[in-house]
Amino acid sequence: IEKASILRKKYGIHISGHGVPPPLESFAELSSRYNCKPYILSNLSQLGFREPTPIQRQAIPVLLSKRDCFACAPTGSGKTLAFLCPMLMKIKPGLKNGIKAVVLCPTRELAAQTARECKKLAKGRKFYIKLMTKELSRCGDFEKMPCDVIISTPLRLDFAICKRKLDLSRVKYLVLDEADKLFELGFVEQIDSVVKACSKTTVVRTLFSATLPETVEKLASTVMVDAVRIIIGRKNS
Ligand code: ADP
Ligand code: MG
Repeated sequence: IEKASILRKKYGIHISGHGVPPPLESFAELSSRYNCKPYILSNLSQLGFREPTPIQRQAIPVLLSKRDCFACAPTGSGKTLAFLCPMLMKIKPGLKNGIKAVVLCPTRELAAQTARECKKLAKGRKFYIKLMTKELSRCGDFEKMPCDVIISTPLRLDFAICKRKLDLSRVKYLVLDEADKLFELGFVEQIDSVVKACSKTTVVRTLFSATLPETVEKLASTVMVDAVRIIIGRKNS
C-alpha cells in the first residue's frame, strides 16, 4: 500500500474508489502480475514503448481487475493503449461468443486511428478487429462476420444496433473514448443506445476523457457501477 502511494505521487496519479490495485512499475509487471501473453509485450517493445505512461500505470491494473473505470488524462498521454492493452488481455479471439469488445470514438478519423493501433498491439494473435464503416453499418451481415472487437462512431454503431440488429449482448468490455468530445458533439442518445445494447451484467465499462466537464461526470455516474476514478495531473488542467 505504501509503495502504491509512493508511485502514485511520483506519477501524479489521483484516484478515488475503494480497493484500487497498485499502479504498474513497468510493462514487465503485466506478465509477472497478470500473466500477460508474450505477444503483447513483444508488440509493445516493437512499438518502442518502454515505460507505461502515468494513465497506463493506473488504468491497466484497474481494468484488469474488472472494475468500471473513469479516467481523465491530458491529450497525448497514452489513453488509447491504457484501454486497448487490458481489453486484449481480457478477451479471447474466436468465432464463438460474438462481439466481445466495443470502442466508441467521437469521429471517424479517431475510430480509424484506434483500429490501427489495436491491430498493431494485437499483432501475432488472431483477433478480428473491425472498424465500423458506413458500408458495414448499412449492410454488414453481422451474424456471419467474424468480429471480436468493433470500433465505431456513435451514429454508425447505433444505426447497426437499431436497423441491422447488431447483437452486443455478449460484450465484455465497453470503452467510451474522448467522452468530453462525444458529449460536445451531442451523441447522448446514441451512447445510451450502445450502453443498453451491451447488456451483459458483467460488462466492464470505461470512460476516457481529456477534460472533466460536469456533463462527463454525470454520464460517468449514470453509466458506471462502483467505478474507480483516475485523474492524472491537476484537475481541470
Ligand atoms: P491520448 O489518447 O491520451 O491523447 P494517445 O493514446 O493517442 O494519447 O497517445 C499519444 C502518443 O503517445 C501516440 O503516438 C502513442 O503511440 C504514444 N504512446 C502511447 N503510449 C506510450 C508509451 N508507453 N511510451 C511511449 N509512447 C507512447
Ligand atoms: Mg485519445
